[in-house]
Amino acid sequence: SAVEKKIRGPQIRNLLEAKDFILFDCDGVIWHGETAITGAAKVVSSLIRHGKNVVFVTNNCTRPRENYVHKFYRLGFTDVMLEQIFSSSYCSALYLRDVVKIRGQVFEADEPDATIYDCALAEDVKAVLVGHDDKLTFLKLAKASCYLRDPDCLFLATDNDPWHPLSGGRILPGSGSLTAALEVSSGRKATVIGKPSRFMFECISSQFSGVEPAQCLMIGDRLETDMLFGSNCGFDTMLTLTGVSQLEEAQEYRDSELAANHSLVPDYVVDSIADFLPAFEE
Ligand code: PLP
Ligand code: CA
Repeated sequence: SAVEKKIRGPQIRNLLEAKDFILFDCDGVIWHGETAITGAAKVVSSLIRHGKNVVFVTNNCTRPRENYVHKFYRLGFTDVMLEQIFSSSYCSALYLRDVVKIRGQVFEADEPDATIYDCALAEDVKAVLVGHDDKLTFLKLAKASCYLRDPDCLFLATDNDPWHPLSGGRILPGSGSLTAALEVSSGRKATVIGKPSRFMFECISSQFSGVEPAQCLMIGDRLETDMLFGSNCGFDTMLTLTGVSQLEEAQEYRDSELAANHSLVPDYVVDSIADFLPAFEE
């Protein structure tokens, strides 16, 4: 199986030649926080120069697309445009607008002075969307739980990521940890918009006409989100070892008795996307 065998030069070249759409996860693949992964900017610009459609698919919901364009530029990815960037927050906004057709007020629940017992509840709330919120309070959780008592109120989550690595062995709790709290208090399950949900691909295909899953390669660092997303969409998948998941975890999923776990096994593995660089040399 490909899992034990990392692919190199000529094989990478053949694979890239066979694909028209290259989908990159961001954190752990092209950068770590504010530091670009060595060689990643050159890989991205080479792919674009070779006429590939390059798309970025991130579960990070904390920035608008415009802000990502600046981040890409700042980190040396100077030819990335707004239209190539799909974040879980952008796709959540598309979901509310195009699927649920919610128009109207979007507000953030926050009233520091109100008590739980008599806090003001908004009328006719149509959806609760959980994202990364480093100002989550008990009051917000209480209010959201109240809104979700209404079975017509939708329960959405930008992503279900459990945690993210920070430097020095620290971790950042992910949106999934906040969603879990609300799932318990509401007794309901959230609909996830970001990876591994197929909805992000629907957003991409509605903006790039004629994209076929067989033309796509999804490159990511997390088996439970990126590889499963790729499998759910019918793409070939590639794990890069510069981020969260290790080769051993991929092997465990491969050897698992549970057939569903096989969807988390990558088709290809590289140490870093910098391994693509020789493929562009003549
Ligand atoms: N959400 C937050 C808040 C993050 O900080 C990160 C990574 O740092 C992510 C999501 C994961 O992003 P990606 O899907 O690009 O790996
Ligand atoms: Ca990642």
